[in-house]
Parts: sequence; structure tokens; C-alpha cells
Amino acid sequence: MFLGAFNGIAGAPGLGQQRYTPPVRTVPQNLSGTGAVLITFDDGTSDAYTLTYPLFAAHNIPATCYINSGTVGGASVLTPSMMRELDAAGWCMANHTRDHLDLTTLSQALQQSQIQKTVDDLTAWGVPDGALHVAYPFGSYNADTLAAMEDVSALSGRGVAFDEQFSLPLEDMHQIPAVRIRADTTLATAKGYIDTALANDTICCFYMHVIKSEGELDTYDWAYDDLAALVDYIVQTNIPVLTIADLYAVQSGARVIRQQY
Ligand SMILES: [Zn+2]
Repeated sequence: MFLGAFNGIAGAPGLGQQRYTPPVRTVPQNLSGTGAVLITFDDGTSDAYTLTYPLFAAHNIPATCYINSGTVGGASVLTPSMMRELDAAGWCMANHTRDHLDLTTLSQALQQSQIQKTVDDLTAWGVPDGALHVAYPFGSYNADTLAAMEDVSALSGRGVAFDEQFSLPLEDMHQIPAVRIRADTTLATAKGYIDTALANDTICCFYMHVIKSEGELDTYDWAYDDLAALVDYIVQTNIPVLTIADLYAVQSGARVIRQQY
């Protein structure tokens, strides 16, 4: 029933026209037989632009950045100009709410406001395409959150998990599980998630935070060298890399995603 509600969404208001059309390739319906991976970065830190973007661009791999629009303008945070460049390169600038509050502590109206403000901000900054794709801060959501998501016509909602993968079609696009990558995740473990996706024909939606090329890793950081090695493994295994917008398109029946590698 969710799928039916999504039909015709391409003409929905608020979804800007793509300014850039990446090369595309045809994939089997629902990616059957391939597995797939999403690489998502939470909190909109600028290392996504300075470190990760050059690494991913070398392989034409896209990522999704979940932005807390209330932090934009602060130090070490993506600027609207960086977001536009990433968006033009096929990345997805998505919605991590305005102030990164635990939504479950808020009324439904305030939850809706937290989501809608970032929709408005991303739209004002010229990167509206991912604005209706939400990641819940701390992965925390409740029934009021899901009602607020309906009220703003959000297209997808990403939670958090430790190692849960999924297949399409998802029953509820507002409760997408994601696989945690942080300082205590070894490269071997991260590669193992790719192996699982390939072996089981599942989709692995990674979520990461700050990528660091030097210095001590905080709990939610990951090392650049490990990310680079993971990208090499992704290229080597030829697993498709999707943005959250790509995932939504495939869920909605699209059979074409961007070319990569
Ligand atoms: Zn976050």
C-alpha cells in the first residue's frame, strides 16, 4: 500500500529538477541478484567534502549526507556551496532535522517543525532533491514521528541498527535500518557487511559520521584509510552504490541507477 502511495511522486511539488544527469545503467528490478550498498554520513560535517568527496569521485561513487541545517554556518560543517557541488556530482543532501534533537522528546508538532525547517533550508540552498529523505537523530523515533513524517510527505526515514540489512520492496520506507560504522568497527567487519549483502542479495545502508585522516578517533569517527580500503573493496566486488534517493527510486519501480566505477 505504501508503494501505491508513492506512485507518481516524480511530479510532486518540492522535488527539484535534477540539474545534472549522471550516466545511468539498467539494473535488475529491485536489484535482485546484486545486493547493494548505501554510504550515508550523518551530521553534515565538512570532511565529507574535503576528504570523502575526492575519494568517491575517483570511482564515481555517490554518498548521502544527512544535514542538520541549524548547524550550517558553523565550523567544520558543510556550506551550502559545498552541498551544491556534491549534489551536482550525484550525491544526495538529505534531512537530519534542524537541531539534532531527540525527536521522541518533542510533541508531534515540534517534530514536524524540526523536519520541515530542514526541508525549507535545503530547498533555499538549492539542494532540494534529498530534503524529504530523513534520518532520525540518534535513530530515535516514535509514533508521533511517523505521523509527522506523513504530514510533511517525507519519502524515507532512516533509523539506526548494528548490522541489519534489508531487501526491497521495504514494507515501510519510514523505518529503514542502517548498519553502524564507527571507531570500533574494523575494516574486516565492514567488508564482511559487503560480503553479506552480496551473499544474501540484501541492501546494506551504512551510516558513518566524521572521517579522519589523522589524529585520534572519537567514538563515532572512522579512519580515512579504512574508508579508502572499503571503497576499493566496493569497486572490486562491483556491488552497486545507491544514494537514499536512488533507493527510493528503485523501491518505486525504477530500474535505472547511475553508472559508477
Ligand atoms: Zn546525527
